[in-house]
Amino acid sequence: MNYNKKTVYDADVKGKKVLVRCDFNVPQDKKTGEITSDKRIVAALPTLKYLLEQGAAVIACSHLGKPVATFDGYVKKQVEKGRNEADITREEWEKSLKKLTLAPVARRLSELLGQEVIFAADTIGPDAQAKAAALQPGQIMLLENLRFDKGETKNSPDFAKALADMAEVFVSDAFGTVHRAHASTAGVAAFLPAYSGLLVQKELSIMGKALDNPVRPFVAVLGGAKVSDKINVINNLLEKADTIIIGGGMAYTFKKAQGFEVGQSLLEADRIDYAKDMIAKAEAKGVKFLLPVDNYCAAEFSADAEPVLVEGDIPAELMGMDIGPKTVEIFSAAVKGAGTIVWNGPMGVFEFDKFANGTKAMAKALAESGAVTIVGGGDSASAVEKLGFADKITHISTGGGASLEFLEGKELPGVACLLDA
Ligand code: AMP
Repeated sequence: MNYNKKTVYDADVKGKKVLVRCDFNVPQDKKTGEITSDKRIVAALPTLKYLLEQGAAVIACSHLGKPVATFDGYVKKQVEKGRNEADITREEWEKSLKKLTLAPVARRLSELLGQEVIFAADTIGPDAQAKAAALQPGQIMLLENLRFDKGETKNSPDFAKALADMAEVFVSDAFGTVHRAHASTAGVAAFLPAYSGLLVQKELSIMGKALDNPVRPFVAVLGGAKVSDKINVINNLLEKADTIIIGGGMAYTFKKAQGFEVGQSLLEADRIDYAKDMIAKAEAKGVKFLLPVDNYCAAEFSADAEPVLVEGDIPAELMGMDIGPKTVEIFSAAVKGAGTIVWNGPMGVFEFDKFANGTKAMAKALAESGAVTIVGGGDSASAVEKLGFADKITHISTGGGASLEFLEGKELPGVACLLDA
């Protein structure tokens, strides 16, 4: 996969209409619809400001949540949830869409930019078309939620072309969706010259370098619930890393593969052979493969459970919930001399305070390592932020799924479609 892509800085945008795919998929209060964190809108500002300063007319677009674009689709989904088809009304569906309008994002973006953000009431409809046609250099508009049109997630060429027809240049700045081949993330690039925005550019340069040409030793720290979610990540990193550290729920399948008892811990029995193979492969390749040697366990999966420190075999009635102090010491030491560290997935059930210590200790070890540190999105990113180490990490990825697929070495459709540098 080529990560070396042309950026907005390479694009001639003066006086041109530029379609910018942003990630405005902001969290909202379920009842009031109020935006509870504007972090993603703030993160989009550098690219948008740059384009406006260059005299572009900016057409921003994004998805928000998971609206169901057709009434039939909505009915199907509700029936799958166990509801009676006769109870489901068109009105209710329309209400569900209204909740996911991007209008509040347009207002917040306008406050942050200090200029008007023209809001289009549709995506490629008459309102969007008219407003895009009238848009002047230095002005910015935002289209309505792209997923209100079923062509978006289906990557319909017609929908992509209609989006593209409003503009002359495409800028991709929503890293969180580059692993998806949707109309606004990949499809439009068939019709417009496509450049990376500054957010995507940063992700590609830091993560791309870490994977292709890391400062060594290169240490990968993997955790989280399931081995099965991270198989491709482990496969890919075994080819690149010097050390692989495994914590979290997924560690117990590996411990079982080593012949230890794991009690009630998370275990994927159908992955034990895979785990054995990986341990053997790491050994053959000279990759250090580190697993927990002690664990804080609990008798039940609960925030109030009393942590019990266990070394070696875990008794039948207990489950591993966090890595223990000896493990923290070993993992921290492995991280200490690293040149590059990539971290994806918590070391334990960090949502429960009593079992957050291992994750906290790893966050601290990364922060103090002096290495290039990259934290994948999702849970590990929120752990680092929650624990207050965010500003000591080189890069926290903005895309959970996208950064995982990046680590898998997969081709990302929203990146592959951009012009090569
Ligand atoms: P993932 O989405 O795969 O990164 O997994 C994150 C989830 O894994 C978090 O919600 C953690 O609570 C959970 N997790 C981490 N360690 C354990 C464990 N030992 N047992 C059960 N769940 C765990």
